[in-house]
Amino acid sequence: MSYLSKGTFGAIKKMTTGYFMKMILNIKLTDNYNKRFKNNREINPFMRVCCTALLAIMAGCISNTALGQANHSNPWAPTEIGVMPPIASMTKGVWLKGELHVHSRHSTESSNNPIAKIIAFSKSVGMDYVCITDHDNHVDGDVANHTWADPEFKSDSVLLLYGAEWTTTRGHGNVFSAKPYDHQRLYDVRDQRDVVVGAVKKGLGIHLSANHPSGKDHFGYSYDMVESIEVWNSAVWPKNANAIMIWDDMLSSGRKLTGRGGSDAHHGVPDSPDKATKNSYQAKANYVGTPTTWVFATARTSQAVVDALTNGRVAISSNPYAPRVEFYADLNQDGKMDMMMGDNAKSTGKSVKFRVQLTGNTLPAATYTINVIKNGNKLGSYQATGKMPMIEFNDTPVTVGRTYYRVEVEGPQTDYPQVPQSMALSGNMVGLSNPIYFNFDPNF
Ligand SMILES: [Zn+2]
Ligand SMILES: [Zn+2]
Repeated sequence: MSYLSKGTFGAIKKMTTGYFMKMILNIKLTDNYNKRFKNNREINPFMRVCCTALLAIMAGCISNTALGQANHSNPWAPTEIGVMPPIASMTKGVWLKGELHVHSRHSTESSNNPIAKIIAFSKSVGMDYVCITDHDNHVDGDVANHTWADPEFKSDSVLLLYGAEWTTTRGHGNVFSAKPYDHQRLYDVRDQRDVVVGAVKKGLGIHLSANHPSGKDHFGYSYDMVESIEVWNSAVWPKNANAIMIWDDMLSSGRKLTGRGGSDAHHGVPDSPDKATKNSYQAKANYVGTPTTWVFATARTSQAVVDALTNGRVAISSNPYAPRVEFYADLNQDGKMDMMMGDNAKSTGKSVKFRVQLTGNTLPAATYTINVIKNGNKLGSYQATGKMPMIEFNDTPVTVGRTYYRVEVEGPQTDYPQVPQSMALSGNMVGLSNPIYFNFDPNF
């Protein structure tokens, strides 16, 4: 162990560096270089003693630091993980699809988009749940007496989550809750330090999600207080590349963070031509379901939807009719899948078999490209065809340290006639899985 702390070493280094810098500057900047040089030569014996002493101290510091590094053990370095919580049932549940980011008339810049229109449309395209996320700053935080109090905020078939877009100077985040909560408190605290915001958020018991994480109004708070991140915002897929990069960075640093979608639609189809606005064209390009977020919920309830979002049993599809990406892993190679996306298991050091399948309206003649990403890097690329396109691959997660795998599926778009211009905007991105995790510390 070094008897000199890092701080002491730094201070001495600064002092000595500063001293030499001053000497150099004196020599270089003087008008009378020769005279100064001569003066320096005159005090040479004294300087020589000083320099020798300082160099001796520096050498001592360096050797001590080197010794210190050799003996250093990082208390945060990965260790073998203990017992992990059991993986939830693979069969007890239901796939539900929904929209997690849409603005109604309670957001002042929206047009032709009353709540009843959003809900009726959602029902018509088979949505199971919707969260209407109006800008809270447009109502000074009082979402409860605007969006939620709207007589149109009701449905006999679509599960309506309670939420809002937390719209702050430091960016935007969506709240998802199965029941009403005191949103005003979250609005009021928005400009405080993250520790204060985080405490309020925790007290409210809500799911907070980072919105459009790159670009203007990106989520500018600590990611330690969010459960999910909007990795696919609007039908326009290509602009989400940086969001995916941020997601991979958060995952790679041990944050088990669910990726989800959201159209961020503000504009509905006008009821008559005279009601059209300059933004009405957007309704045919980006609306409810572009993209669609699927959750494997334990029941058809709002709470189960929020829980599934938190746990990461989630996939994103370009639209409600596009196929759903399902991603599974067989831990003991017995042919039976033991975990799915969002699940976290302890690595045994043995090879794991992974399965990716597309479920739903796949195009019969299409070839889909399945890209596998492991710890932020591409592991492999596979082609899948047929009625239920499926691929399998094997890999071995490390026994000490974290590993995650996720997949991206590219291919032709399934038609979404209600939002006909959305397919071209989504390009060839059909769907994203959430990761399958190994050795992610549940107490992180
Ligand atoms: Zn926003
Ligand atoms: Zn928005």
